Amino acid sequence: MDFSFNDEEEAFRKEVRDWIKKETPKRWFELDPLLWEETDESWAISREFQKKLGQKGWLAPAYPKQYGGLEMSHMKRLILAEELSYNKAPVGVETEIAVNWVGPDLLLFGSEEQKQKYALGVAKGDLVICLGYSEPNAGSDLASLQTTAVEEDDEYVINGNKIWTSYAHYADYCWLAARTDPNAPRKYDGISMFVVDMKTPGITIHPLINLMNRHSFNEVFFDNVRIPKENLVGKKNNGWYELMIALDSERSGIGYAAMFQRILEELVEYAKERKCDKDPIIRQKLAEMAVEIEVSRMMCYRIAWMYSKNLHPNYEASMSLVFLSEMMRRVAQVGMDIAGPYGELERDSKWAPLRGKIERLCLNCLSIGVGGGTNEIQRNIIAQRGLGLPRK
Ligand SMILES: Cc1cc2nc3c(=O)[nH]c(=O)nc-3n(C[C@H](O)[C@H](O)[C@H](O)COP(=O)(O)OP(=O)(O)OC[C@H]3O[C@@H](n4cnc5c(N)ncnc54)[C@H](O)[C@@H]3O)c2cc1C
Repeated sequence: MDFSFNDEEEAFRKEVRDWIKKETPKRWFELDPLLWEETDESWAISREFQKKLGQKGWLAPAYPKQYGGLEMSHMKRLILAEELSYNKAPVGVETEIAVNWVGPDLLLFGSEEQKQKYALGVAKGDLVICLGYSEPNAGSDLASLQTTAVEEDDEYVINGNKIWTSYAHYADYCWLAARTDPNAPRKYDGISMFVVDMKTPGITIHPLINLMNRHSFNEVFFDNVRIPKENLVGKKNNGWYELMIALDSERSGIGYAAMFQRILEELVEYAKERKCDKDPIIRQKLAEMAVEIEVSRMMCYRIAWMYSKNLHPNYEASMSLVFLSEMMRRVAQVGMDIAGPYGELERDSKWAPLRGKIERLCLNCLSIGVGGGTNEIQRNIIAQRGLGLPRK
């Protein structure tokens, strides 16, 4: 088995690395990306960088050319994703949402007009899209969602309430799941997907501040929001299947292992600095992390390989996400083990190790393994679809 990349792919990796170095504003590296708060400045830097990627065709490189991509191979897409992650480029979750989670659904189910308007806009870095899935009473049991979209003449009228909506306050559009048939015998069969312009009258956004004291979540209220009928994506009442494919895409991150490789390298440097690199317990823990990151990387490669064969990752994506999210918590714990009580200090303390990154990592890792479905839900998927175990 040969896991190496060919010469062309290695040359591409170098090209991407050099480009990131050249095109990322110096200001971005004054802080580690983990340490940037969600501010107007950080948002502006990452939007500008994403537009540059879009102009180059590197934001959605595997999309068809007519929708802003380069029809790049998925192995090269993997290399691009790895380099962006490893080199800490200003590419945030909002890009993942639009480009890698919603965009593929628009390409699969959207009309030609929708692809031209939304998929192309996403690939160019012009559009920010938020996910309108979760509701106060529908998270893991998403099919219980209660937001309704009722047909009236040439419009749909939307009423309901979404929660945990990341970046809704910046979004141009919401990729919304709403109930279009409340009488369907199975709750899965009465859901449809829509693209909703966030400027439509009747939408109210309330900020929710997360445990890191940052504003990335929101609660979004829809009060008689009227949208044109042509904003329905795919077939009416077929939304659940579209939604499941988008969720598989969400769980299919292919660049994340490279990010952890970088964090591990920083922890190794920090262990040397603190002169605990000879401590047998610390060495064991760092070595264990190296093994896990390698396993995680293989899972990312498997997903990229599946895409390259036109296969759709399902339980494979759930496996990767479970492993990765729990690995992130272990990496954070190893950081804490090396730093000791100093690890809890925030970046404005002069004693904070790695400028407070360990503290950020420890808080940040709690939400990974919840977003995109909790790890219990991922394990249910693996049990049912991967192992063929009964649903209950
Ligand atoms: C960082 C982050 C970003 C997010 N962004 C968005 C977004 O942009 N848009 C959006 O719509 N949502 C978003 N979410 C919400 C996320 O999808 C939900 O939090 C998640 O699906 C869990 O739903 P819940 O919070 O209602 O928990 P619940 O569903 O109430 O779950 C509570 C607990 O019960 C467990 N549980 C529930 N059912 C089962 C079961 N069948 N088997 C075993 N255990 C079970 C869960 O694992 C969990 O531990 C985000 C969440 C996070 C953390």
